[in-house]
Amino acid sequence: MEKRIFGIETEFGCMVRDPSVGTPEEIVEQVKDYAFYDRRYGLIDLHARDYAFEPARAGGFLRNGGRLYIDAVGSHEEYATPECCDLLDLVRYDRAGRILLSRLLKDLQLSPVVSFHNNSIDHFGGHTFGCHENYLVQLEDRFFTDALSSLLPFLVTRQIFAGVGRVGGHRLTRPSSKNNIMTLSEHEVDYVWVSNFYGVEIDPTVNFQLSQRADHIVKTISSRVRFNRAIINPKWDSYYSYSNLHRLHVLFGESNMSEYALMLKVGTTCLVLDLIEDGIAPPDVEVADPLETLRSVSRDPTMKWIVRLRNGRTISAIDLQRRYLDAAKRYLYRRDPQTDLVLREWETILDDLERDPLSTADRLDWAAKFVLYRQYMEETGASWQDDVMQSLDLEYHNATPEEGLFYGLEQAGLMRRLVTDEQVEEALTNPPENTRAYGRGLIVAQLLAHPGLRYVIDWDAIYIERNRQLDLKNPFHTYEKEAMRFLRGV
Ligand code: ATP
Ligand code: MG
Ligand code: MG
Repeated sequence: MEKRIFGIETEFGCMVRDPSVGTPEEIVEQVKDYAFYDRRYGLIDLHARDYAFEPARAGGFLRNGGRLYIDAVGSHEEYATPECCDLLDLVRYDRAGRILLSRLLKDLQLSPVVSFHNNSIDHFGGHTFGCHENYLVQLEDRFFTDALSSLLPFLVTRQIFAGVGRVGGHRLTRPSSKNNIMTLSEHEVDYVWVSNFYGVEIDPTVNFQLSQRADHIVKTISSRVRFNRAIINPKWDSYYSYSNLHRLHVLFGESNMSEYALMLKVGTTCLVLDLIEDGIAPPDVEVADPLETLRSVSRDPTMKWIVRLRNGRTISAIDLQRRYLDAAKRYLYRRDPQTDLVLREWETILDDLERDPLSTADRLDWAAKFVLYRQYMEETGASWQDDVMQSLDLEYHNATPEEGLFYGLEQAGLMRRLVTDEQVEEALTNPPENTRAYGRGLIVAQLLAHPGLRYVIDWDAIYIERNRQLDLKNPFHTYEKEAMRFLRGV
């Protein structure tokens, strides 16, 4: 994937099993302070980013070039990977975020009383946690015309392999009075927005579904993320920094545990963006109602996943994905080894899903969960509606390797891996070597060795003291030489 930069942000839920150790809000602060103030992993933000909502000291950049911070409106830990342009790098930097959080808990002796979870839905309160994908795109003003209509059918059906799976469902009720919102404190607004503004209730008709967030998405596109649960937010505002390239901010994704599912999700999305940028996306794929498709595919117990197209025809989600796959094979085959890997696995997974959906349980999160939960119910007599199923669903996403159900499957050899533990370990403290994250990581490491310097770090620039500035405009450039020069004399 040489020509695209991508990164993933994940919000983590904090589960505290013994209130005497602190509230979740206190613990996320403690964990963040420990990560930064003893300068183990990175540098705390000294200054508020004036275009962002975060206050100073809410978090900062890490030695690996990524970012860990507390979202001011929700008090949860968020980890953003450094910019990557290699899929396996993304997989290991994403995993490194979970390892980092679980290690901080252990160091603070809060494990296993406290755990972090990358589930995207809170079963009990109906809150959702974000997992945003970021892609550098060359779409410019075509975005709202052909690009969006080519991209949406892919995005709302890719859940057949990218979906994280969940027990049960929610139903959004009609928007309730705006006055409800006025009674909430500021940081609660984002967190409980859907459940208060739209009203959310458990939908007892659903046992299990592919997507964690499908029930909660209320818009296809929005630039006001905090007030709308949308699929895409175009983020024209920032990152407009390199030859008119933009960051496409996909909001509705879910945080995969499976390395394979993450690789396939981001890999296929990159290939579809390639097709759209080159004007060769498949025609006649527009779905009649993207949000309805998102929900109905997610909730289809027959796993036939039939989609209604705008032209009145119907097609299965598998065949709709094949339309994109065929175009990608025709135009992109043999471009580079990683493109070929994605093409091959995309085809294999669609074939497997058609033949026997659950045969993908060694690669896809939703299928692994379904098989595991079904086996548990057979052994214990539990049913989908029992609270214990929701607890299992949460434990699948426990970020601590010794505790999480997902890691248990992996250790039993039941989930396919793509990177080694050593590669993940390396990603905890070293930046990717082929993007601007490299130069950032060099500078963070140097600043760590020189306490007392004033600095501001951002994705596309670094400032030291008042008079030194290094722009990192080109995300494909490593800035190695520039960083060395910049640091000389520091
Ligand atoms: P939020 O949505 O939490 O308000 P944000 O989306 O503006 O914040 P961050 O949480 O800081 O931003 O995360 C930015 C993500 O975008 C990171 O994962 C980073 O690797 C990635 N990224 C940075 N620059 C680019 C780029 N030019 N193209 C694509 N991705 C990028
Ligand atoms: Mg973010
Ligand atoms: Mg974001």
